[in-house]
Amino acid sequence: MNLTDNLRSTAGLHPDRVAVKMDDAQLTFAQFAGLASKVAGWLRELGVEPGDRVALSLPNILHMPVLYYGVLWAGGVVVPTNPLYKSREFSHVLRDSDAKVFFAWNAVDEEAGKGAAEAGVTYVSVDPASFLTELGTYAAVEGVDRAADDTAVILYTSGTTGAPKGAELTHANMMRNAEISASDAIAGLSAGDVVFGGLPLFHVFGQTTMMNAAVLAGATLTLLPRFDPAKALEVIARDKVTQMGGVPTMYVALSQFPGRADYDTSSLRRCVSGGSALPVEVLGAFEEAYNAPILEGYGLSETSPVAAFNHADRERKAGSVGQPIDGVELKLIDAEWNEVPDGEDGEIAISGHNVMKGYFGNPEATASAIRDGWFRTGDIGRRDEDGYYYIVDRAKDMIIRGGYNIYPREIEEVLYAHPAVGSVAVVGVPHETHGEEVAAVVIPKPGRTLTEDEVREFAKERVAAYKYPRVVRIVSELPLGPTGKILKREIVVD
Ligand code: AMP
Repeated sequence: MNLTDNLRSTAGLHPDRVAVKMDDAQLTFAQFAGLASKVAGWLRELGVEPGDRVALSLPNILHMPVLYYGVLWAGGVVVPTNPLYKSREFSHVLRDSDAKVFFAWNAVDEEAGKGAAEAGVTYVSVDPASFLTELGTYAAVEGVDRAADDTAVILYTSGTTGAPKGAELTHANMMRNAEISASDAIAGLSAGDVVFGGLPLFHVFGQTTMMNAAVLAGATLTLLPRFDPAKALEVIARDKVTQMGGVPTMYVALSQFPGRADYDTSSLRRCVSGGSALPVEVLGAFEEAYNAPILEGYGLSETSPVAAFNHADRERKAGSVGQPIDGVELKLIDAEWNEVPDGEDGEIAISGHNVMKGYFGNPEATASAIRDGWFRTGDIGRRDEDGYYYIVDRAKDMIIRGGYNIYPREIEEVLYAHPAVGSVAVVGVPHETHGEEVAAVVIPKPGRTLTEDEVREFAKERVAAYKYPRVVRIVSELPLGPTGKILKREIVVD
């Protein structure tokens, strides 16, 4: 099945179920498919042919799934972008993907329109108030059939190095990953479930595990354009959300939110975490507060994204990202692509149905990332005797202090155990004699205070002398990426 059939068949099975909603606005599956077929009609008028790239830049509003599936319905390739991009970033993506048309939310007209003009791409400004009505004027067209190995989406990601590259994912990549994400062992979705849509749909995590999985299952996706814990709790209580996918910063924010007892979140059955490491302390605090389990998985844009997961029907190991999903293999390799001996850390390589075709129009980058079907991730991992994987850290986040390798994640786990630590990021800062020094940047929990000395002493008592953070900063916020991941490279320690 391809992604277009995904919507088509669910619209046939569950025409009147609510497919997607945002606050008071909602679309049934029949309406959703009807609008997607009209987007395809419009694209046809704009001269879009099967295989052409169409870029999108919208937050989580109803228009995003409608346009996403509309482009697929026309046989096109979706190129989703972050609405926070500046014109230079838009024009890079538009040029690199050779996009034909660009639909963007009218609130970002200035940067998006400029980017489109620079790249010479047809620009369509989406006014949320009138867009869906305007769509009504276009003729609905039949969905274009695409083969399993035709490209469905191109997702721009920095990968392990350099400027954003377009990970080219096929219908089979995306569809198979959505099926596995929806299955009982992962999100456990079926018709009647309500999925929390707080992860951006322009990112692979939101696309596969929330939108495409919900469409497949006939579940309702309730969208939240911008995550904040109070609004999230309101949506969970109002729509009786049953499943939630999120990044660790969301679970941190929800478990520390002072007013959480005012919301009825008893509908919540299962949560999935991914995108960055879920500290064991955060897992415990969230589960205690909400009485719903969090299952952690691991993946990347290049792997559609899910590659490993703590399957619901197997033993869950806190701190681990679980075992490879069905049909996917993981191994640990060295710089020469050789497998490292059992028990040693190595770079995680992934092979299976979830691995992208390659980086769009970039055979060199593809050749250095994929060899014999194995994709190298840039993440350092470990495997236990049961075949469960642990993410030690990203290779490029490793700190080298006086010749010793230090993985920030280890120090972060230790600091999360401090009762007053809310969020923490450990980074390397330049040092005259050691090369790098370990720095911890900490946000205290709401209503708590912390001193730099307290943080330093707490770590010093718990890790080897070369590892504890000599530099500590107490701050009120940390730079976050579009999904809510802490952006370590943007942290400035002065
Ligand atoms: P992206 O392509 O934006 O989805 O980012 C992928 C990266 O997120 C991976 O290479 C990992 O470094 C990180 N990541 C994803 N899931 C996890 C996890 N469960 N634990 C630690 N890091 C993760």
